[in-house]
Amino acid sequence: MNKRLKKLRGRLAEKEIDAIFITQSENRRYLSGFDGTAGYLLITNKKANLATDFRYTEQAKAEAPDFEIWRITSNLTEWFPGLLRDLGIKRIGFEAGDVTVNFHRQLRDALKKKQVSVKMVPVNGLVESLRAVKEPEEIELIRKASAITDAAFEYIEGTIKAGMTEKQVAWELEKSMRENGSQSLPFDIIVASGPQAALPHHKPSDRIINEGEPIVIDMGARSGGYASDLSRTICAGTPDATFRKVYNTVLDAQTVAMSIIKEGMTGHQADSVARELIQKAGYGEAFGHALGHGVGLAEHELPRLGPGSDEPLTEGMVFTVEPGIYLSGWGGVRIEDTVVMEKGKARPITRARKIKFY
Ligand code: ZN
Repeated sequence: MNKRLKKLRGRLAEKEIDAIFITQSENRRYLSGFDGTAGYLLITNKKANLATDFRYTEQAKAEAPDFEIWRITSNLTEWFPGLLRDLGIKRIGFEAGDVTVNFHRQLRDALKKKQVSVKMVPVNGLVESLRAVKEPEEIELIRKASAITDAAFEYIEGTIKAGMTEKQVAWELEKSMRENGSQSLPFDIIVASGPQAALPHHKPSDRIINEGEPIVIDMGARSGGYASDLSRTICAGTPDATFRKVYNTVLDAQTVAMSIIKEGMTGHQADSVARELIQKAGYGEAFGHALGHGVGLAEHELPRLGPGSDEPLTEGMVFTVEPGIYLSGWGGVRIEDTVVMEKGKARPITRARKIKFY
């Protein structure tokens, strides 16, 4: 029996719903195994249904053996109310963070047209919280994706030179990851040099990289659907004094956080470890984002390691530890590893070298 479905079913009663309608694509894949781009799951305590259109019915049968496959059309009225009635559903949960206002209206209209009375209950983060805790096979896939990013970083570290543009560097990284077996990349590679490095999500541009300035590289690969996430900050030539001070502060915050984070800590507490060190060094205002986030089928998922995040970090969670300092006009430094909570401690999955500048 599918253990993910079993866990999910345990939560239905807590939410006082007798079924859940899954629309979010990674959740659909996580629960069913089906990785087509269209379809819905309808899961009750007894039954698991996957509704998809004719393009995908064969694929769904092969990938989702625990599910009964329904071939549907885009006309909701033709199948949605009937399916709910046949299954005897009275209260159905829907993914409030994913269903649009329009789609919600269409679902309700369909039920009304067929005079099927069902209460639609908004549900948030139910499957996402299951996904936060990884099974060994999932961790293995994240390891594979991480090995690809590590290799790409090692390659670029040996190749990068002043005079190259950010776009050239990004393209070299992308080629390396694809050639080493990455599926399509989970997010656009960030290469941010000089003052651009002050923008945490800068898009690679035609800017030419100069000697001595910071270059923030942030990238991920994908293997078997699972993402990796790695950032390093490097320098072509000799770094200046500001670089050294900022870099060493971030590296210290990251290293200390990775060694102190342990099972049972909340995301907020984990974040505070790094944040306090950065504040002490006088850069508190310059660390404007959270310390980290979960990584899995999505490149950003639960858990969240940041101010106000009360969820405890537990065994099997995979997440990033990525403090940064961003100084407008000068640039920035971010150092990020993907780690897994294993035997109570955060163990790194990404292994790319972290240079020390003295
Ligand atoms: Zn990240």
